Amino acid sequence: MDESAHDPENGPETDSVKDAARARRLRVETLAVHAGRHSDPATGAVMPPIHLSTTFARNADGTTPAGYVYARSENPNRHALEEALAQLEGGTVAAAFASGQAATMTVLQTLGAGDHVILPDSLYYGTRKLAEDVFGPWQLSCSFVDMQAVDNVRAVLRPNTRLIWVETPSNPLLTVTDIGAVAELARAHGARCVVDNTWATPINQQPLALGAHLVMHATTKFLGGHSDILGGVLIAGQSDTGQSDAVQDDDWFARIRMIQTTGGAVAAPFDCWLLLRSLRTLPYRVRAHNANALAVAQGLAAHPAVEAVYYPGLSDFAGHAVAARQMTGFGGVLSILVRGGGAAAQAVAGRTQLFTQATSLGGVESLIEHRASVEGPTTTTPVNLLRLSIGLEHPADLLDDLQQALDAG
Ligand SMILES: *Cc1c(COP(=O)(O)O)cnc(C)c1O
Repeated sequence: MDESAHDPENGPETDSVKDAARARRLRVETLAVHAGRHSDPATGAVMPPIHLSTTFARNADGTTPAGYVYARSENPNRHALEEALAQLEGGTVAAAFASGQAATMTVLQTLGAGDHVILPDSLYYGTRKLAEDVFGPWQLSCSFVDMQAVDNVRAVLRPNTRLIWVETPSNPLLTVTDIGAVAELARAHGARCVVDNTWATPINQQPLALGAHLVMHATTKFLGGHSDILGGVLIAGQSDTGQSDAVQDDDWFARIRMIQTTGGAVAAPFDCWLLLRSLRTLPYRVRAHNANALAVAQGLAAHPAVEAVYYPGLSDFAGHAVAARQMTGFGGVLSILVRGGGAAAQAVAGRTQLFTQATSLGGVESLIEHRASVEGPTTTTPVNLLRLSIGLEHPADLLDDLQQALDAG
């Protein structure tokens, strides 16, 4: 990077952050602190103001002084957030939404009637509900397969397969999919590969670098990190013009942007502000979530009331080898099977004192949930499964709490 990139006279400071990131000079901790950061030109405020205005004044000649016109299309807080999220994920463009589901819905809305989508059979239940219940009547056809073997994906490819959706590690079985292998298959077929990277976070896993076309996050989870923001994002790399695949990613992202700003399921300014604030500590939080989850997973594996522990960080877990290859940490979520069936599992969740029995994951506080009862009668989740989101408490306190809840059974 040349000297002039450091010069504050020489454009917004994030341009120098972007340049340095591109030259791979900045580590993720540094990026997390600086990406999308602009001192407020009006006041010099180091931390950004929240722009609630829905509209922006024009110059006498009708032009816009900073390019902002109307808040559904563009907002300074959303703009800064999108810039930061794109950089953290190793992408170039991002679109922020009001929820993870709004982001997923946008991906599906880029498709046409009659298109075919392949999804994993272990999948966030809301993604399945969107694909089947919302887009089924719009003639989208879906195949759900076990993606632990890429051959299963290949076997259901059709001429009209446009999209392969990957979720790894998956909800709630922590199933691991080889992102590089699935992305390669998609590219060879002229289809696109999207990875729901919510559970891994960009700190543990970078799907764009592994060949995926697009990354989706429910920012509600680890990126927000404090259980107080609902949000989603889609992130893409630049058009891969060097590749001979049939996919024009620039066009695709332009369509995503059009649906975002026309459909209007955008993230609110305060949510964007809060989320950008959360990103500043993401690398440190994720590292602690990883370490605590591994300690809890190892501790639970030895407990007689636990039939199985699903966590990619355990060396005897089915997906461990692939996870170890494509992840730098194994995340903060694990699931366990409790001996004695569904009622016994529910009773364990009811006896925890530090763990709160609640839906969601990725916050500083630990949560526990009996997934089958939340997912309802159509669930395919084992009835004795509990999903644990491991927070930032001391892992020994968390293990003590789980042990007393399991021992009392
Ligand atoms: C929570 C979650 C979603 C949905 O996000 P919302 O913000 O609740 O709409 C999607 N995928 C995964 C893996 C999730 O955990």
